Amino acid sequence: MKVDVLTLFPEMFDGVFGTSILGKAQTKGLVSLGASNFRNFATNKHNTVDDAPYGGGGGMVLKPDPIFAAVEDVLKQRGEAAAMMKPPRIILMCPQGETFTQKKAEELVQEDHLIFICGHYEGYDERIREFLVTDELSIGDYVLTGGELPAMVAIDSIVRLIPGVLGNETSAVTDSFSTGLLEYPHYTRPPEFRGMKVPDMLLSGHHLNIEAWRREQSLLRTLERRPDMLETADLTDKERIWLNKLRFEREKSSE
Ligand code: SAM
Repeated sequence: MKVDVLTLFPEMFDGVFGTSILGKAQTKGLVSLGASNFRNFATNKHNTVDDAPYGGGGGMVLKPDPIFAAVEDVLKQRGEAAAMMKPPRIILMCPQGETFTQKKAEELVQEDHLIFICGHYEGYDERIREFLVTDELSIGDYVLTGGELPAMVAIDSIVRLIPGVLGNETSAVTDSFSTGLLEYPHYTRPPEFRGMKVPDMLLSGHHLNIEAWRREQSLLRTLERRPDMLETADLTDKERIWLNKLRFEREKSSE
């Protein structure tokens, strides 16, 4: 997989792309990550990439020409200028976009090439949205100064899903959201710490019972913290009845 970021601050990505799991994924040849400055494609003598909005008002707007040219350059550098290649997904980071989720990460990891565009200032010239990008992604209902941190969040969660990137393949499969539920609690040695004990079940060595305990804990945790997720989770009839009973009992005891 290839991931390219277009930004005014490519140096922000050095640490994130070169460290820990993302750094190792590149060393292993599982992904190629790049960040480049679209200011290099400014066409005026002052190298400006933004301008005042037509119609007046505050804030500066990112111009279309440097961003279109930067995307075309990435395609050329990656050898994808030929029409025969599968086109990349061109993703605009913006608070008005579709909210990024684990499901979206699972969809995007299937692609060969992702290009992320990070904004700054007030906004983008609308022609970038209409004629260049394939997706608009937001990481939540709040506004940041730039798209760099949102792009890092999305890229990290996508790249860790590439087969072979995580040491233990199963760890991504049981993660919160991948299963439609929140993950069960974890414990490790020592079995007792300052009087706080690990649940007996986890020390029993009985794998089937441990699996059932973990499923139950996962359901309980989701009920407590994210009951909205239970609406779409893949549950058995028995689990649904059990959860409804728990909900009913909790509502009754809080009256
Ligand atoms: N005026 C814009 C609006 O109201 O939609 C906000 C612009 S924001 C100050 C500057 C840039 O930060 C955006 O173009 C986008 O790239 C990035 N950004 C800010 N918040 C974001 C979020 N929640 N998700 C993704 N990108 C975000």
